[in-house]
Amino acid sequence: MADPPSPTQQRIHVFWHEGMLNHDTGIGIFDTGTDPGFLDVLEKHPENSDRIRNMVSILKRGPISPYISWHSGRSATVPELLTFHSSDYVNQLVDADKSGGRIMCSGTFLNPGSWNSALLAAGTTLSSMKHILNGNGKIAYALVRPPGHHAQPTQADGYCFLNNAGLAVQLALDSGCSKVAVIDIDVHYGNGTAEGFYGSDKVLTISLHMNHGSWGPSHPQSGNVDELGEGKGFGYNLNIPLPNGTGDKGYEYAMTELVVPAVDKFQPAMMVLVVGQDSSAFDPNGRQCLTMDGYRVIGGIVRSLADKHCDGRILIVQEGGYHVTYSAYCLHATLEGVINLPVPLLSDPIAYYPEDEALATKVIDKIKQYQTERVPFLNGT
Ligand SMILES: [Zn+2]
Repeated sequence: MADPPSPTQQRIHVFWHEGMLNHDTGIGIFDTGTDPGFLDVLEKHPENSDRIRNMVSILKRGPISPYISWHSGRSATVPELLTFHSSDYVNQLVDADKSGGRIMCSGTFLNPGSWNSALLAAGTTLSSMKHILNGNGKIAYALVRPPGHHAQPTQADGYCFLNNAGLAVQLALDSGCSKVAVIDIDVHYGNGTAEGFYGSDKVLTISLHMNHGSWGPSHPQSGNVDELGEGKGFGYNLNIPLPNGTGDKGYEYAMTELVVPAVDKFQPAMMVLVVGQDSSAFDPNGRQCLTMDGYRVIGGIVRSLADKHCDGRILIVQEGGYHVTYSAYCLHATLEGVINLPVPLLSDPIAYYPEDEALATKVIDKIKQYQTERVPFLNGT
């Protein structure tokens, strides 16, 4: 067996700013922000700062720490935001902040301090991408909140205000990158990122998600297989809605059967891995049953694709992941996969659910047939 890569050969450049902890989403019944008065004990909103504090600490004190270089994040400027978002929408957010806060949509609270955190998340993600584009590193991870992949060009959605990953993708394109592939493994459909590049054949957006459908006016997209993009972008948005309980083996099958062939045909110059640990077995917001092993495998597959097509360049962007302790462990495992470690550095403290991938395999085979029949760049027509 080959020697494991040394920490000097494999660096993950982590971009972080503690100002992102100041986005206070409050307490209530789960993510409602309300208390009808029936319960003695309420809980923090799932998108709270504790989850991110644990991600920071596991990267600082976990066994992966020698592989990590830390960099300070920064705020995005309004002109930067306008590369993805409409000025009307950005003005709405600025006004909401000035007026002391607003509920943007269900579960999505722009409170005092939230706007500064959102600007930091966007700017920090842009800095991470810039680091790669400038040749200062191959693998960068934007450890950010509030998350971004539901934020559409003109509206907030699902705890997200600004589309951090979308802004970084646009920066790569504007800096001369010919094609970018986005692989989103958050348990929810990356509808905002998909929407932003729906008409583009320069960005291949692939989202693996729970089959949750549209969830209201802020999220009109279904995430179904037939949302394939439009115009020039037709075929360049690949949705992979997976059954509940898909698990490690099912995700690996979806990656090898659907994601790898599509990326191989697309041949991107830059890889963006959008990670949410809400696809884990213990997440309050998802039912997909990934464990650390599954995340490690996905990280490894994305790395091999980046090595093949993108000179090893990967931007990793943090999205959801709401189990306060396990999310951090799953993040650690994902990054182990991305740096190609031959054996796990950290064992799984809690995984135990039995897996049955039979249904997932059947669904993935059907999606494959559907996409191969309809998507020109996949079937060579
Ligand atoms: Zn999510």
